[in-house]
Amino acid sequence: MKHVVVGAGTAGFNAITTLLSIQPDADVTLVSAEVPYARMVLPYYLSSEIEEGNVYTITPSRLEELGVKLQLGARASGLDRVAKRVLLEGGGSVEYDHLLIATGSSSVRPPVPGIDGERVFDHWTLADTQALRAVIRPGAEVAIVGAGFIAFTIVNPLLHAGCKLTLIEREPHVLPRMLNAEAAAVLEGWLRDHGVAIHTRASLERIEDAPDGSKRVIVNGSALSTQYSVLVIATGIRPNLEWLRDSGLSIDRGLIVDEQLRTNDPAVYAAGDVAEVRDAVTGQRAVMAIETAAMEQGRIVGAAMAGQPRTYAGGMLMNVIESAGLQAASFGDWAGSAATEGRAAGGHYRRYIWDGDRLTGAVIVGPAHQVAGENDMGMLKGLVQSGRPLGRWQRLLAERPFEVRKAFLSAGSVADLLPRTVLGEPSKPLEAALRS
Ligand SMILES: Cc1cc2nc3c(=O)[nH]c(=O)nc-3n(C[C@H](O)[C@H](O)[C@H](O)COP(=O)(O)OP(=O)(O)OC[C@H]3O[C@@H](n4cnc5c(N)ncnc54)[C@H](O)[C@@H]3O)c2cc1C
Repeated sequence: MKHVVVGAGTAGFNAITTLLSIQPDADVTLVSAEVPYARMVLPYYLSSEIEEGNVYTITPSRLEELGVKLQLGARASGLDRVAKRVLLEGGGSVEYDHLLIATGSSSVRPPVPGIDGERVFDHWTLADTQALRAVIRPGAEVAIVGAGFIAFTIVNPLLHAGCKLTLIEREPHVLPRMLNAEAAAVLEGWLRDHGVAIHTRASLERIEDAPDGSKRVIVNGSALSTQYSVLVIATGIRPNLEWLRDSGLSIDRGLIVDEQLRTNDPAVYAAGDVAEVRDAVTGQRAVMAIETAAMEQGRIVGAAMAGQPRTYAGGMLMNVIESAGLQAASFGDWAGSAATEGRAAGGHYRRYIWDGDRLTGAVIVGPAHQVAGENDMGMLKGLVQSGRPLGRWQRLLAERPFEVRKAFLSAGSVADLLPRTVLGEPSKPLEAALRS
């Protein structure tokens, strides 16, 4: 069996290591535009909290030692499902019996004048981080256009570097796809108190070069009063699926897969940011463009390629950010309308979403050390994942939203969650799994 994995990010890496841990002599080829690394840790490299070496998930030489055939720096440009071949940009192809498509997403810039000028950066790839590291300086005026999740992953690194930071967002509040307006207002207030300038309802129209070499940003017809030495564009991402346009695979927002993560062609799997999977909370199909989903789905596909198919229970959307000491998180059906709310002094906010007496989602904002110390997030996530009816504890949580522990322990969610693992057995560290 020839196993081919396209994409060396989180999903592709987890698929290969899972496959090899079950079947060490498997015939595996990795085709990837980039070398294997985790995008999620790039903000820590930007802030120099970790070295570049810590960004990589595995080295090409270790993969070769494990017998993986490498086509790194190679880009898939098409798929011939009849001949079972992945076509490569610039010619050539790779034959497969089983194929995993794990090409992730790319950042997308809005088509406005000046967007491709100098000193305008993205923050999605390792190369983007390297370019940004070279220009950020203490005192630099930096603006991030788009105040969504990716923008927020680099707020701390830029503040730690001593930059003066501005967030520019088209929607009425920051993190529009992660927080409701009330939660975002707490975060915006906190950030302004920490010196971050925030412009909302500010639609980018163009970027101009000022005579001193800095950038002028035009929103809603007029220039912002500050000029910037660095602009970061974080207005959105899209799954890397153009190369599959003529493949005949079913694509909606992502590649549509079944519960074993197979596309409409049983020889072709998809995982990570490109896959449209079942949302375990809502039951609807969704693209889960998050690290944990890519990891779990990669492992499921790796096991399936090794002849051990497993059912993917579905993912749960979850986003967590920490900026200037304030943590904000949302998960499950966080935007649902049947909700209860709570606030407390010092930046605390909660929103719980209910289906009868079952918790289906939550929004949490609070000082990071307190939210982490109380582990409310873990417990609330557990309540959503277990789907347990909370009975009278629902009223307690609705009336006293900061008393999570009692409801969590009394509802019996721990017993539901403990036996759950992705592959039906505890996961092992990579090298131990490959040795055993
Ligand atoms: C700065 C940053 C911070 C993040 N922080 C978090 C976080 O805190 N929490 C969280 O849950 N998620 C986070 N994410 C998102 C998370 O990194 C992604 O959801 C995850 O990387 C998806 O994994 P993937 O394997 O699907 O795709 P990717 O990791 O994007 O990997 C895709 C791979 O495919 C390759 N590729 C693409 N097109 C082709 C082609 N045509 N041919 C060959 N190879 C190709 C790429 O080079 C890459 O190797 C963050 C992302 C970024 C950029």
